[in-house]
Amino acid sequence: MIKNNLPDLKKARKRNKIETIISEYTKNNKIKDIGLNKKFLIETHGCQANEADTEVIKGMLVSQKFTETNILEEADLVLINTCAIREGAENKVFGELGRLKSFKRLNPNMIIAVSGCMPQEEATVERILKHYKHVDIVFGTHNIDQFLEYLNYVMVEKKSLIEVFSEQGNITEHLPHSRQHKFKAWVNIMFGCDEFCTYCIVPYTRGKERSRRKEYIIEEVKELIEQGYQEITLLGQNVNSYGLDFEDYNYAFADLLADLAELGIPRIRFTTSHPKDFSDELIDVIAQYDNVMPYIHLPVQSGSDKVLKKMNRKYTKEQYLTLVDKIYQKIPHVSLTTDIIVGFPTETEEDFQETLDLVRKSKFEGAYTFIYSRRKGTPAATYETDVTPEIAKERLHRLNELVNEGYATGNKRFEGQTVKVLVEGPSKTKEDILTGQTENNKLVNFKGNIDLAGQIVDVYIKKAKTWSLDGELK
Ligand code: SAM
Ligand code: SF4
Repeated sequence: MIKNNLPDLKKARKRNKIETIISEYTKNNKIKDIGLNKKFLIETHGCQANEADTEVIKGMLVSQKFTETNILEEADLVLINTCAIREGAENKVFGELGRLKSFKRLNPNMIIAVSGCMPQEEATVERILKHYKHVDIVFGTHNIDQFLEYLNYVMVEKKSLIEVFSEQGNITEHLPHSRQHKFKAWVNIMFGCDEFCTYCIVPYTRGKERSRRKEYIIEEVKELIEQGYQEITLLGQNVNSYGLDFEDYNYAFADLLADLAELGIPRIRFTTSHPKDFSDELIDVIAQYDNVMPYIHLPVQSGSDKVLKKMNRKYTKEQYLTLVDKIYQKIPHVSLTTDIIVGFPTETEEDFQETLDLVRKSKFEGAYTFIYSRRKGTPAATYETDVTPEIAKERLHRLNELVNEGYATGNKRFEGQTVKVLVEGPSKTKEDILTGQTENNKLVNFKGNIDLAGQIVDVYIKKAKTWSLDGELK
């Protein structure tokens, strides 16, 4: 295997005051139609950032005349876009890579590629080099724009290749996209993360925080509007620190959100918000514009001040609850959801009770809940703990019961109301039942014609269930 560059987590941790270089994606004219009569299959793990990256990779492949398949046996190229956030996610990828070995034996021309956050870790790359020699291309999060170069090299030279950069990352504009949805789109507004929560691998795998210039974002959203998109979701690991890295002008996330709302796209969502940076201006913008959706995902992680401090979250339980109060006062119809980790090193039953108390007081209408997973290279990986896997599992169970009550209560409040639904398409189980999302991000099922897909319609809510709403087209 050609090893051009290998990952280095220590290097990835460094934050230097180097200006972010913005470049335009350039097509290599020597690489032309290499996908003619060839099929690709991409498996995407992890968060929306990975889903957005997959859309770029697909865009590159489609530009080379590759077509997509979901049948492994007929794929000429299989790419796994990986997530490193928890050990479980990584194990799944290794299991998948192991399974691919037999497919490659049957079809030796099959090219297997691994991308995303896992290749940014030394341990992953060492393991691939040692045990998964059938992998042909390994690249990371900072060089997606080079993917076609790597693919062409492997196809022509019949050699495998690995290239992972641990530098802080630049921004490439005008990348091709093959978007998954026809009326909903992800829009990256920034990359990387500088928060360094002590449990989290993201600042190492995705590099320093760097914001896209507003001109590029506005241009992208205008194009989406022209193409008939109804909804955009602005993406960043902490969207509230958007613009803090601009040295030449003052432009914060609240300014960007207001400018985008003025463009008139029917729905704008954003994720993820760090509570410590959630400004009053931002709350005002969400309250002011009808096309900024009344739905905020506000990860809290824990309700214990001791644990929050050890996590380096930079707020207390009281500060979080004050923010939540302020949001409910100014945007009374808002739905709040969160992320919570249980079993963080040294978490006691009292600490956990603080978390349950915070969940009750915050009236969350949903939460992603996780058992802490030790990530090599992060500060928390060195913390001692007496939280056993059994204790963590039992806490997760108790937390989920409470969270589920929040889901049900959050849905119940819409019973008897008429809500606006962006129609997704037919439900998975019944052809004549349509499914879609309300402004508050609730899933609604109702009878209707498939032609309504992509439209925003009024639906009367007849019955609320724990995970969804049953409605009737108005
Ligand atoms: N940047 C976002 C934030 O701060 O909320 C999302 C980051 S991450 C992709 C999504 C969630 O994964 C985090 O909010 C956290 O709850 C969880 N997570 C991150 N690292 C973890 C770890 N080592 N163990 C368990 N859960 C983790
Ligand atoms: Fe990870 Fe914290 Fe950054 Fe979110 S804000 S990506 S949890 S370091």
